[in-house]
Amino acid sequence: MKLLRFGPAGQERPGLLDTEGVIRDLGGVVGDIDPSTLTQESLARLRGVDPSTLPAVPADTRLGPCVAKPGKFVCIGLNYADHAAESGLPIPEEPVVFMKATSALSGPNDPIIKPRGSTQLDWEVELAFVVGAHCAYVTEEEAAAAIIGYAVCNDVSERAFQMQSSQWDKGKGCDSFGPLGPWLVTPDELGDVHDLSMWLEVNGKRFQDGSTKTMIFRPAFILSYLSRFMSLQPGDVVTTGTPPGVGLGQKPQVWLNVGDRVALGIEGLGEQRQVVVAA
Ligand code: ZN
Repeated sequence: MKLLRFGPAGQERPGLLDTEGVIRDLGGVVGDIDPSTLTQESLARLRGVDPSTLPAVPADTRLGPCVAKPGKFVCIGLNYADHAAESGLPIPEEPVVFMKATSALSGPNDPIIKPRGSTQLDWEVELAFVVGAHCAYVTEEEAAAAIIGYAVCNDVSERAFQMQSSQWDKGKGCDSFGPLGPWLVTPDELGDVHDLSMWLEVNGKRFQDGSTKTMIFRPAFILSYLSRFMSLQPGDVVTTGTPPGVGLGQKPQVWLNVGDRVALGIEGLGEQRQVVVAA
């Protein structure tokens, strides 16, 4: 299944993408794509619904973030060996964990808002996964079963804010720094999550061209690892790091400016398009 949310910001309705690529309104079946819906039991019920019986939604409808009101938005840093190198940092022996504010979540094609005082606005195409069960001290095998879906995430970053202290969160949580979607794809539809191509372009120039093959720590390991330090609940979003090619790693470095256009995607998970606007 490909689950999504559509409609004006703050008033999104739940939906799904049918096999013909038509958005269908799930509003008569579930309240939202949120923690109450993102469990295996609830998805089993959704699988029993015939999409052709659901109202069709115009294709040009705005999409919201594909998950509503997650309790947490956790990020893994430096999870691709080449990206650690371009950042001038060693390959981590333990996953680097930081948080994005949940208020940073935005729709896949919503503008990126350049914060006031921003001088080093950057991009990061990432594979995100969403948790579908309570996870505390779970094994890797249990974690694999608890991942309810995957989505594209742009881990938008402000490097000057990020590097002002040892904690990165300040440069990661601004409004619009977490475009998520277009849809949440359940694992059964995705095939091998460890072999997906991923890319990102700015104004038509390709900067990132990677694959989940080169991840250091894989999603099931990450979820098992995180569950040693915090419990995770249905709806929590975890984004898993970016391959090389961010603005920080260019020589000379490249930063996003107002008017720039960003496009990104991951094989099987869809694409995002954002334009940069001023706060
Ligand atoms: Zn990142």
